[in-house]
Amino acid sequence: MAKLKACPFCGGPGVYRRANASWVKHPNWTAGCEHGHATSPDMESKKEAADWWNRRPKRRSATADMQRDAVLEEAATMAEHATINVSMHWDGPDDPPGRRAIDHRDVIAAAIRAMKVSPV
Ligand SMILES: [Zn+2]
Repeated sequence: MAKLKACPFCGGPGVYRRANASWVKHPNWTAGCEHGHATSPDMESKKEAADWWNRRPKRRSATADMQRDAVLEEAATMAEHATINVSMHWDGPDDPPGRRAIDHRDVIAAAIRAMKVSPV
């Protein structure tokens, strides 16, 4: 059986758990933190649970997270000030084309900021 990686949040050991709810016909397996910080979804086998848990990315260093956030913030700021992210839109076949201009800049900037470790 595959050895489970440590919890990416606390470093504690990974453990298997069985979902033994009475309504479950075939008990499923999860793999996750011994202390409950994170867990896989219910899987049909221990191997599937281990494969899911063990491909979780390792937590990176605080410095790497800060550098990543700085790059993303710069990209978000660029998106906010872009001049080309505007598309024309109309609501239906009876509306004249190009009826409304939609500015996507805020949406794009928000999506970029959502990728940050510490979204602000
Ligand atoms: Zn943990």
